Amino acid sequence: MANTAFQPRVFSGIQPSGGLTLGNYLGALKRFTTMQDEGNFETIYCMVDLHAITVWQDPETLKRNTRELCAGFIASGIDPEKSILFNQSQVPEHAQLAWIFNTVARMGWLNRMTQFKDKAGKNRENASVGLFAYPSLMAADILIYHATHVPVGDDQKQHLELTRDIAAKFNHDYGVDFFPITEPVIEGAATRVMSLRDGSKKMSKSDASDMSRINMTDDADTIAAKLRKARTDPDALPSEVAGLAERPEARNLINIYAAFSDMTPEQVLAEVGGKQFSEFKPMLAELAVSKLSPISSEMSRLMQDQGEIDKILSRGAERAREITEPILAKTYDIVGMVR
Ligand code: ATP
Ligand code: MG
Repeated sequence: MANTAFQPRVFSGIQPSGGLTLGNYLGALKRFTTMQDEGNFETIYCMVDLHAITVWQDPETLKRNTRELCAGFIASGIDPEKSILFNQSQVPEHAQLAWIFNTVARMGWLNRMTQFKDKAGKNRENASVGLFAYPSLMAADILIYHATHVPVGDDQKQHLELTRDIAAKFNHDYGVDFFPITEPVIEGAATRVMSLRDGSKKMSKSDASDMSRINMTDDADTIAAKLRKARTDPDALPSEVAGLAERPEARNLINIYAAFSDMTPEQVLAEVGGKQFSEFKPMLAELAVSKLSPISSEMSRLMQDQGEIDKILSRGAERAREITEPILAKTYDIVGMVR
């Protein structure tokens, strides 16, 4: 179905499953802000707390992480007037639509999801049912807004394909054109920021090693130290992108530099090709600190007034529900629930 029938609308979310990382900033927040400011879309951004609890979260820490994440959104440039900014559990239609989608998604589809396999690890029998059903809640997050575009990092590509499959199967099974076939927006140099310790693993806020990631709240010395210790190879940087093919750690650092400076990796290599890491890493640290430290100081300023953050969240939830209530009501009607 053509999405032209739907108003251009962006939805995306971040889990309050820990502190924000550089991967979240470059792969998500920075791009969320651009889409908000370009003004081509209505933009809706969410702290997905119901997703976070698919893995155990200490309740007090979860509350703190949710508020800190809200501060992170705002400090990164999300304006709660321009965008709708809220936490998922305050908008019950997400979970209600997810139940419907649990009846649409097939076991075989969810069994193929690599995020479940990665997160459940060797102990699959002991993973929560919620972790397995995560993608159908994510489909509900998106489709309860009839969102047409979803900016995410590369790791979420498979879940977005599943979202499209769920929308298509629902439309087909009920003979309607009700849910849009959402477009993933996975663009830019840093759609997959890798761990600083292992160039084959994505940087994650839930990784056990703090040295694997740069946290948005790390101070300048910590950022410089983590980058200095980041795993690399002994060779100088190449002048062409082709020279990064077999060098995942080098490619990662170049991609990070490119994303921060709004350049392409080609442009970065044209400037830094031939340099040793001993020279490039401090340049990258300086760039990272200059971009991240204003954000982290704004985050700590915002965190001093939690009442204000809670007000922003509840106002955001009210605005969100103006969209979600009618869409859920229509869904229930299509499915055959007596109202
Ligand atoms: P967790 O480890 O708990 O899953 P996370 O760091 O993966 O946390 P999420 O909340 O799952 O963060 O993801 C929020 C957004 O950030 C998603 O759009 C995701 O694709 C993006 N993202 C997460 N990690 C990276 C990364 N390393 N590089 C680029 N984008 C990322
Ligand atoms: Mg994740």
